[in-house]
Amino acid sequence: MNEDQSSRTRIAKDFHWEMGHRLPFHEGGCRNIHGHSYRLQVVAEGVLDEHGMVIDYFDLKEIVEPLVATLDHAFLCDANDTAMLNFFAQNPLKHVVVPFLTTAENLAGWFAAEIAVLLQPYRNLRSLTIRVCETERTYAERTVQFH
Ligand SMILES: [Zn+2]
Repeated sequence: MNEDQSSRTRIAKDFHWEMGHRLPFHEGGCRNIHGHSYRLQVVAEGVLDEHGMVIDYFDLKEIVEPLVATLDHAFLCDANDTAMLNFFAQNPLKHVVVPFLTTAENLAGWFAAEIAVLLQPYRNLRSLTIRVCETERTYAERTVQFH
């Protein structure tokens, strides 16, 4: 295919959810149980398909929303956080255990890996960028290149 950078287009869609977490190693406030109104921005870059699209926004929503729903109103629990795991063993509240510290950076990496797999059928895509915002003033970003 005759293709250069200038033939690529980027589209983005935003998602929102509420989630609790804590950073056990943190010496400030973040070691406490707290939550954020998270914003996820999914940016897909590619060449246009026969319909003039990078990816249908509807398809992107169908792919991303189940992941967001898994996290919404849950506590995101680092698998090494035994204090919280003990709590959830006694109190069956919504929580998701992940094998990483629950920073926005790691969360961006998790979303990038999960979504990249689901985007594999879209052969016209060239990269995926994930932005996770814990606050209005901060974000962590991860980019995955395809092909
Ligand atoms: Zn936090």
